[in-house]
Amino acid sequence: MPMKIVKYPHPALRHPAKPVSLIDAALRKIVAEMFQLMYEHHGLGLAAPQVALPYQVFVMNPTGDPEQREHEQVFINPELSDPKGLVEAEEGCLSFPDLYQKVRRAKEVRVQAYDAQGRLIDRVVTDLEARIVQHETDHLHGKLFIDYFSPGAKLSSRAILEAFEKEHRRAQERGELPSDAELIRQLQALEKEAIVVG
Ligand SMILES: [Zn+2]
Repeated sequence: MPMKIVKYPHPALRHPAKPVSLIDAALRKIVAEMFQLMYEHHGLGLAAPQVALPYQVFVMNPTGDPEQREHEQVFINPELSDPKGLVEAEEGCLSFPDLYQKVRRAKEVRVQAYDAQGRLIDRVVTDLEARIVQHETDHLHGKLFIDYFSPGAKLSSRAILEAFEKEHRRAQERGELPSDAELIRQLQALEKEAIVVG
């Protein structure tokens, strides 16, 4: 099945992803497809749960420009620490098309992870990169940017979120999307595959 970006409230978005135990050609193929999809949808980052894969992997290119491949970064099993400062800025998410709200994030954060060649990454990222890294790492833990909305932002997003929920249910009624229970079973089956540890 071709890889596809899932939209809120697909259960994959709330399902905590498992750490990757083997970085191999199969994983690098997933990563390449994720970059492709990210560029097609004009995103700056994309996390594996957004393509219904329950693995701790995300890709990022802060330029969003497929011509600038030198800015591509892959983060596997990322861990964040030492957050510093707070900045509020408008944020969107490919799983919530056309929804933008202000979200407060650390201005700077340390990220430790592995890249697609299995090399250790240990960096301090700031500003836009820090925002993307925090947003995408959240995805790996089933956390979404809507969780940070202020009461005012929640209120003004209510109609669009309800529309997403309605569309999700309709797709299930039309048989275009399996039930939530079946989608969760699919995620659990993927977790048992060789590239992850329980
Ligand atoms: Zn997102």
